[in-house]
Parts: sequence; C-alpha cells; structure tokens
Amino acid sequence: MSLPSADRLRALNADLHCHSTVSDGWLEPEAVVLRALANGVELLALTDHDEVGGIDAAAQVAQAHGLGFVAGVEISVSFAGETIHIVGLGIDHRHPVLLAGLAQVRGGRDVRAQQMGEALARVGIRDALAGARRFARNPALVSRAHFARHLVASGVMPDVKTVFDHYLVRGKPGFVEHEWAALEDAVGWIRAAGGIAVIAHPARYRLSAADMGRLFDRFVAVGGEAVEVVSGAHSEDEMRRFATVARQRGLFASRASDFHGEAESAVDLGRCNPLPPDLEPVWARLSPAAAPRD
Ligand code: AMP
Ligand code: MN
Ligand code: MN
Ligand code: MN
Repeated sequence: MSLPSADRLRALNADLHCHSTVSDGWLEPEAVVLRALANGVELLALTDHDEVGGIDAAAQVAQAHGLGFVAGVEISVSFAGETIHIVGLGIDHRHPVLLAGLAQVRGGRDVRAQQMGEALARVGIRDALAGARRFARNPALVSRAHFARHLVASGVMPDVKTVFDHYLVRGKPGFVEHEWAALEDAVGWIRAAGGIAVIAHPARYRLSAADMGRLFDRFVAVGGEAVEVVSGAHSEDEMRRFATVARQRGLFASRASDFHGEAESAVDLGRCNPLPPDLEPVWARLSPAAAPRD
C-alpha cells in the first residue's frame, strides 16, 4: 500500500479521539469502528479514558475493513486544580510502563465513585453508585458520565448535560475532588510507549490565561507534541484560538470528534471541521496499523 501524498494526507478524514464501552462510550469498540467506516473516516484512534482494553478488538475490525487505525488512550491528569485530559496516539498499548500508569489512574476511580454515591445520597439521591454501575460496562471504569446516565434514566434530570450542570461539576453536590495523574507522568507513559502526547479539547478547561500558558509550557517541556485544534467540544472561535496556540508553539494539530454516542455527542465520528490548512496534522507523524486506501 502506497503512502498518500502530502496533500492527500492533509485532507484525510482523521478522527483521533473517541470512546467505546471500555470507558464511557455507548458503542462496543467494534461498533465504533464500523460507525467510523460508515461515516467515511479514513484514520481512526480509539481513546478510552485511562484504559486500552478496547484496542485489540477495534484494531482487528479496522484491519479487516482496511480502515487506518492507531491505538490511543485519554489519560486523566490534575493540573492547577483542574482535570486535564491528555490523549496518547500511536501507543504500544501493551507497553508495561503505560499499563502500570493506567492501572494506577484507574485505581483511584473506585474510591471516587463510592464518594460520589455518598455525596449524592446526602442530597436525597439514593443508590446512585449501583445505578451508575449498571451503565458501566467496564467495572474498573466508572465515570461521571455513568452517574449522569443513571440520573437521567431514573428521572432526576431530563438529560446528561443538565445532570452535569446541577450535580457533577465542581461546586455541585455530587462532585468529588480527585487527584489524577501528574502531567509529566501521563506524557512520560505515552512517550515510553512510543506515542505522541496531545492536549485534548483545551477550550474546555477552566484555567486562567496564566495557568493555560503554564499548562502548554509544562506540556512542551515534558515532551508533549500536539494539541486538539479541531474538537467536537470546540466552537469555531475556540478552534481558531487554539490554531493560533498551535502555530505559536509549533505543535502538531489534531482533529477529533470525542464521540461518545449518538444521543450525547454534538459531532459524529468523522464529521469534524477540517484543520486550518497551514497547520501540521499530527497524523503525519503516525503510522497506522492499516494504511488508508488512496
Ligand atoms: P470522569 O472522567 O469520570 O470525571 O468523567 C468525565 C466524562 O464526563 C467526560 O469524558 C465526558 O464524557 C463527561 N462529561 C464531562 N463534563 C460533561 C458535561 N458538561 N456534559 C456532558 N458530559 C460531560
Ligand atoms: Mn468521556
Ligand atoms: Mn476528555
Ligand atoms: Mn474524550
């Protein structure tokens, strides 16, 4: 299979951040790949939260259909009192350093989930943890999204976004402070596994301008190389803002739906805007397990 030309590569329908039932997505890894194919994606990365358990199944289906696929992960990090997500792309998902790091991050989720259940009980919402667990296909990965789905299903709130606004963000009764991985550790695990570290959806972080600057400084200093400029979680203004950051800092740019499921995601797999044409696509640095067809 020949490598695509530079122009073809730039125009590739790459979607380098999405979720399966291995974390808080609605579709099994195989179904994520099939949906991506149906939507015209040419290069896909599955990036479950703190977990690589879906990579083999997704890679196999992608390979069978000739879809370019790279192994990925989205690691939860604490920085300046905020939760930051660092995506790793093109990782060796069997690398022991990465696996040990991810196991450590996941380890904290159980205690946090229990505390969330207790916090919600204090405001009269009983058995929320048991309810969240029913939505979590991977018992090691209970996410706030699973709590939100349970609260919607049990009629407490009309939709997931409203649950977050009323219960699950800082200052609200179901929010529990949690210390995730250190930035340098997350980037270090990704690099140890041969991957490229990407700052996910930067516009979503509630950081002061100074802290945002520090986040990028530190990220670059510890070996981070890319930023999600186009994200399902970004408006066009936010996309332009982080396109400027990518240019100023010489970072590779990523393009990502952050798809979780039809009902919960603004942007479907492969349906993001194109990258601004002058940016260097991060996928120019990735070697897909199955090359896209020209
Ligand atoms: P966690 O890693 O358990 O803290 O959960 C974070 C996940 O919750 C994110 O990856 C999203 O899937 C989801 N999420 C966070 N904030 C919101 C929000 N405001 N509306 C809907 N989903 C959200
Ligand atoms: Mn999520
Ligand atoms: Mn995220
Ligand atoms: Mn995500």
